[in-house]
Amino acid sequence: MDKKSNFEMIIIGCGIAGASLAYFLAERGMTDILILEREEQPGYHSTGRSAAVLVEFDLVPSLLQLKLLGGRFLRNPPSGFSESTLLQRSGILIMFQGALWEQVRQMIPGLRQSGAVVDILSQEETASMIPVLSPENFDGAVLLPEDGHIDVNELLWGYLRHAKRRGAQLRCKEEVRDIKTDQGRCRGVVTSRGEYSSRWVINAAGAWGGKIRGLVGYSPVQLTAHRRTIITFAAPEGLAVSKWPLVADLSHDLYFSPESAGLMASPMDEDAMEPCDARPDELVVAQTIERLKQLTPRLVPKSITHKWAGLRTFAPDQAMVVGEDPVVKGFFWLSGQGGAGIETSSAVGQIASDLILDGHTKLIDAQVISPARFTA
Ligand SMILES: Cc1cc2nc3c(=O)[nH]c(=O)nc-3n(C[C@H](O)[C@H](O)[C@H](O)COP(=O)(O)OP(=O)(O)OC[C@H]3O[C@@H](n4cnc5c(N)ncnc54)[C@H](O)[C@@H]3O)c2cc1C
Repeated sequence: MDKKSNFEMIIIGCGIAGASLAYFLAERGMTDILILEREEQPGYHSTGRSAAVLVEFDLVPSLLQLKLLGGRFLRNPPSGFSESTLLQRSGILIMFQGALWEQVRQMIPGLRQSGAVVDILSQEETASMIPVLSPENFDGAVLLPEDGHIDVNELLWGYLRHAKRRGAQLRCKEEVRDIKTDQGRCRGVVTSRGEYSSRWVINAAGAWGGKIRGLVGYSPVQLTAHRRTIITFAAPEGLAVSKWPLVADLSHDLYFSPESAGLMASPMDEDAMEPCDARPDELVVAQTIERLKQLTPRLVPKSITHKWAGLRTFAPDQAMVVGEDPVVKGFFWLSGQGGAGIETSSAVGQIASDLILDGHTKLIDAQVISPARFTA
């Protein structure tokens, strides 16, 4: 085993957040990096359980900005970054009803101005595209034809492969249990296998972000993990679903999409819980079927082929938490990715590396995502 125990940068957690930061730091020449992951493999928690889509639409302005930046990378990654295409432009269709539809219609010009490709679809156009939808359940829809499914495995391993090639180290099955501080500054970490010193400690621990900060005192940022469930099932016989976009009904909390040979669906559940290895709850699974019954009865499955759940972790204002801690110097937050950590990972990784190496970034107003906003 490599005995090196002194690093410039220690990243806690090897989900998409930690991996993307390692990549962008290494691309800029900062390669003295150790990534510590408690599980046997990277991406075991939220990163490996997502719906894996790019949706360049959001009511939170900073998230929309990050998604648009992230979309550019997914469509045009640097040459040699990945071995296959990162984004399958299968499309995203989002339906709305009532006041929400009016609000969304007013957002469209701004969305288009910021670079998103957005089509507005009437009830009839939407129902003819997805024939299992009943027009009484929605007033209209937006179609994002340039968005769609992300190859998360390829993205995660693209980040890691290149970061490791440049010198970053990854150690799995090693849990961070304590953080060393001295005179208000991070000095390193204590793990299940030993001690390391470092100038920076990066909190990329996903749902455990609050607990990691708790190791150095009361956290200025309150993160909450919310479970989200997905089920997969066969498509009804005779119905060609493989070319459908992901279809989301934001007025009735349901999305479904082609998945492998069949379909997947989520009731967009948001139960708050302690960080854990999330498992699907049977009541939530039943609720998914119930919602399919109400909104698209033709899709109700005879049986479920697979189900899983993962955690989406949010700060109180739903914006991400990226920046140096306002109290503990050298402790850097890369947290609160919520339901958008995959699609925004390239933007957030780049912003975080700018903030660490230069102290500023041109990509976003860093104050909007800074952890310091909670202490003002
Ligand atoms: C059902 C579902 C659907 C989603 N759909 C989408 C989507 O379509 N598009 C999208 O962009 N996002 C989506 N998301 C959100 C996305 O998955 C997350 O935002 C993203 O994966 C968060 O990445 P992360 O690296 O912060 O967290 P994680 O992937 O959870 O990684 C954190 C890592 O830190 C490790 N860790 C924690 N504590 C320690 C410790 N003490 N020592 C060492 N290691 C530690 C954990 O083991 C874990 O591997 C979805 C999420 C869910 C659950």
